[in-house]
Formats: sequence, structure tokens, C-alpha cells
Amino acid sequence: MTDKWLNWAGNQTSYPHSVLRPDNENAISEIVGLGVAKRLKVRPIGNGHSFSSIGSTDGFLVSLQDLNSILDIDKEKLQVTVGAGIILSDLNAQLHKLGLALPNLGDIDSQSIAGAIATGTHGTGITFNSISSAVVGIRIVTGDGSIVDISESENAEFFEASKVSLGALGIVVSVTLQCVRSFNLELTEFTARLPEIISRFEHAELSSDFVEFFWFPYTDIAEIKICNKTNSFPSRVKTVSKFVNDEIIRNLGFDLLNRFWLRFPGTVNRSMQLLTKEGDRPTRVDISHKIFCSKRRVKFIEMEYAVPREQLFDAFEAVRHITEGLRIPVTFPVEIRTLGADHIPLSMANGRDTGFIAIHLYNHAKSRAFFHEVEKAMRQFAGRPHWGKIHNLDSSDLVKLYPQWNEFTEARQALDPDGHFTNSYLERVLGY
Ligand SMILES: Cc1cc2nc3c(=O)[nH]c(=O)nc-3n(C[C@H](O)[C@H](O)[C@H](O)COP(=O)(O)OP(=O)(O)OC[C@H]3O[C@@H](n4cnc5c(N)ncnc54)[C@H](O)[C@@H]3O)c2cc1C
Repeated sequence: MTDKWLNWAGNQTSYPHSVLRPDNENAISEIVGLGVAKRLKVRPIGNGHSFSSIGSTDGFLVSLQDLNSILDIDKEKLQVTVGAGIILSDLNAQLHKLGLALPNLGDIDSQSIAGAIATGTHGTGITFNSISSAVVGIRIVTGDGSIVDISESENAEFFEASKVSLGALGIVVSVTLQCVRSFNLELTEFTARLPEIISRFEHAELSSDFVEFFWFPYTDIAEIKICNKTNSFPSRVKTVSKFVNDEIIRNLGFDLLNRFWLRFPGTVNRSMQLLTKEGDRPTRVDISHKIFCSKRRVKFIEMEYAVPREQLFDAFEAVRHITEGLRIPVTFPVEIRTLGADHIPLSMANGRDTGFIAIHLYNHAKSRAFFHEVEKAMRQFAGRPHWGKIHNLDSSDLVKLYPQWNEFTEARQALDPDGHFTNSYLERVLGY
């Protein structure tokens, strides 16, 4: 009898032969050896927060949740080495106590560090990069069970490839991260008509540190979030009003609304228009990770495409057009972010300043037509799908989208030539 494995959203199920929780690197090497001997694939897993089937396996599923501490601190270089299984919320809190922080984060902090970097998890900011860009060293158990250190100075030919690996190069044991001194952010949020939001977004992109916006389907209203580094102290936020806003309105209330909309889809259009109003929210200052990340308790499934920054608003227009023409309503806002170009072979921002468009569906919603139509439209913008989110592209599509594709496949050939870490998702997207 095998254990059933489910991802966070509940849209991916698999039946691994065994779920293993090694607490040291030698045990991980032994698992790899055992996998080879038993002809079972070995799949590392983080906190199961990917929407794609990237973590599924019928072989050994290896969780590094017991390798979850800070192993080394270099106070001069502002670098820390951490166990691969540490969850970002723990990492952020511990870094803050050390006077450190990650330079940029995504919307949530529930991922493991190894899982976050494996898929190129990102936040927003055209002068910033993904979490993977903070990696300065990686220690990994490869396909023959050996333990290899990778950095700019050791096994440097694999360094860039290992920063976004899809878990295809081996099992990451620890990661060394380049941090910055801990910082506070001032968050300005307001809701306005879409043309004004787009013009504020384009201005803030160059004049502020981090900016993103959310467009509400069936309206011409969007909410923008602009964050700037500040020396001000965290605001005194009334705990009760924060709880009411974060937990009751944004989580519980939104879940109830989605349940209602599921039964009465004809009401979505009108209720979106009634619920979204122009207006400001009070500015707030807090420690960076508390501004970047929030709790997402309403379960959803997500697709996100990365397009060249200069085509972001044409691609967004195409998504708007699709959304308004669908028979099954879309109840989640569409999220727009940006990121600067990098040189990581499988990074979604490889070689180009990038705009991201993320679309979501309540996870009980039946229609997949939305994802299908958006995916089709993103082809004309050379869209690259997020590795950890839903998409249907395969290696024949992806090879054309990533100019440094061969650098990644060469690293894989060297570190896992026989595909011990593969699964059906990797077979589709990487070709074996
Ligand atoms: C509510 C929600 C919000 C999200 N917000 C964002 C966002 O703002 N920005 C964004 O970019 N993404 C976002 N995501 C996607 C998420 O960040 C990624 O899917 C991420 O990879 C999940 O991390 P995880 O630890 O759960 O990894 P998993 O989903 O468990 O695994 C992901 C990959 O990491 C590999 N992996 C895990 N551990 C190891 C290891 N030790 N060695 C080698 N490979 C390993 C796995 O093999 C797999 O390939 C969000 C997801 C959810 C559910």
C-alpha cells in the first residue's frame, strides 16, 4: 500500500512507492543508490506548493523537511548557508534576527528554499531578480550518489543551471544565499480605473522599488501595490482591523463569495462591479518579508506566463479579451508583475526584462477553457510558462523559448545522465 501524495491546491495526486525523510546528506546518497538498485526514480519534494505535476512520482519521494536550519553565517559577506528544506517563513524570521533579509520575495512564504529556487519563484521589481538569483552556492547529491558543491569557484560550469533546476540535477542538500541588510518597506495601495493604474504602474516601475497590480475581471478597476524601501519604523497596525481585513475579508469572505459564485455563476459579473470601488488604503510600513508575503487560505489553481516586458500590455490586453468572452466566469483578479533579465538558463526571465501575467481559478471551478485560451494566446508573445504552475508546453516548444537551453541539458547530462530524478513532468518538459 503506497501513501497518497497531494499538492497544496489538491489538483495533483500521486502514489509514491515510499515517502522518505532523510536528515543528513549521507542518508540522501543511500536513497539515491537504493533507487538505482530497485529501479525506482527518486524525486525531491519541497512543500508541495507547485500547481504543476513537477513533484509527482511513483518512486521514492524525498522530503528534506528535516534539513531545515541555518548552517553557516558569513557576517562580512552577508551570506547564509541553509538546509534545503527550510521554509521561507522560518528563514525570513531567522534572517531578520541576524539583521539580514532576502532582497526580493514572492506573494507567500510557505515554500521550501529548494522548492522555491527550483522553479524560479519570483516577486516583482524590474531592477530585481527571482529568489534563485540570490543563490551563491549549492550542495547537491547527484545521480551517482556523490555529493557535489557548485558555485562560481567550484564546478562553475553547472552554477547557473543549478539555480533553476526543476529538481532535475539532483537532490539539493543546502543552499548558500546572498542576503542584504534587513530593511523596511512602505506599502502604498489603492484601487482606481485601469488606465490610471497602468500609467501609475509604468511610472512606479522606474521610480519605486517594487510594484504590481491586480485587475478585477468584468470591471475597469485594478488595485496597485507600490513598495519602497524606507528608514521609517513599522506602523502600528490595529491587530483587530488587520485580522478583519486579512483573514475575514480577503480569505474567509472571498472563499464564501467563491462558493456562492460557483452556484450562481450568472451573478459574478454584476457582483464584481459592485464590490470593486476606487479608493485608497492607509499606507503601511513593516519589515520587508511581512509586506512582500501574505496568507493565501482560499485554494486556487494558477497559470502564469512570462513575456518580454515590452509586450506585457499587449499580452495583458489579450488576456482581458479572453476573460470577458468566457462563458464560465473568472472570479480571481489577474496579477501583473515584472522582473529584470538574468542569465540563469531555465529562468523565466532569462535574457530579457520580463512581464508576468498570472491567472487563477477557484479550485472547485470546472472550466479549464480559460487556461487553454490564455496559453494559446501567450504563444504569440513567446510566453514562457512558470515551471511550478499549470501549463501544457513540452520540450519541443520550450527549447525554442530558452536560448541557453543546451547549457541546462549539458549540466543534466553530467549530473544525472540516466535520469534517476525524472518523472512524467520532466519527461514532457525536458524530453527525458
Ligand atoms: C498560494 C501560492 C502562491 C504562490 N505565489 C508565487 C509567487 O508569488 N511567485 C512565484 O514565482 N511562484 C509562486 N507560487 C509557486 C511556488 O512558489 C512554486 O511552485 C514553488 O516551487 C513551490 O515551492 P515548494 O517548496 O512547495 O516546492 P515543491 O512544489 O514541493 O517542488 C517544486 C520543485 O522543487 C524541487 N525540489 C524541492 N526540493 C528540492 C531539493 N531539495 N532538491 C532539488 N529539488 C527540489 C521539486 O523536485 C520540484 O521540482 C505560489 C504557489 C502557491 C500555492
